[in-house]
Amino acid sequence: MNLLSEMVEDQLGIKEWNNVLLQANVDGVYTSSGLYQDSELLKLVSIISERNNIPADDLVFAFGQYMLPGFAGRYPYLIEKIPDFLSFLESIDEVIHVEVKKLHPDAITPSFSHKRLAQHQLLLNYQSNRKMCRLAEGLISGAAKHFDTQYDLQHSPCMHTGADHCGLLITVNAAAS
Ligand code: ZN
Repeated sequence: MNLLSEMVEDQLGIKEWNNVLLQANVDGVYTSSGLYQDSELLKLVSIISERNNIPADDLVFAFGQYMLPGFAGRYPYLIEKIPDFLSFLESIDEVIHVEVKKLHPDAITPSFSHKRLAQHQLLLNYQSNRKMCRLAEGLISGAAKHFDTQYDLQHSPCMHTGADHCGLLITVNAAAS
């Protein structure tokens, strides 16, 4: 369930992951359970970012992209029954969120609400004290890849410019689907 360590080990090596943990002074027993609080995730991200000279925003986005393939590997039964990209995004709160929380009460799952505006258009509203909407953008990107779907994204309003939530308007490119 430890998606961040899996991603870092995969792309930067296990040695780098161990160095990150050392520097973060995170308890190894705790991390082996694979769960982080938001604040801990941000701490780890900022350390990885500094050590590897990768912008934190890019890391968070990449982590978001990694989430769906990561979940699909662990919980294929959650993903297999979902027919398409927008259905997946709609199911994040109802299925994924609830199931993952059942398995891992402390797991980080983004908070979304959604509204289907048209057959090819979905509005996701994201809200989090951590304002990690880049994570949401990454999750959407990873899901589109998984379902082999082209889409346009409009990100407005955004918590980073003072709004109380982020609005992510996803329009599937019908010609390509
Ligand atoms: Zn935003």
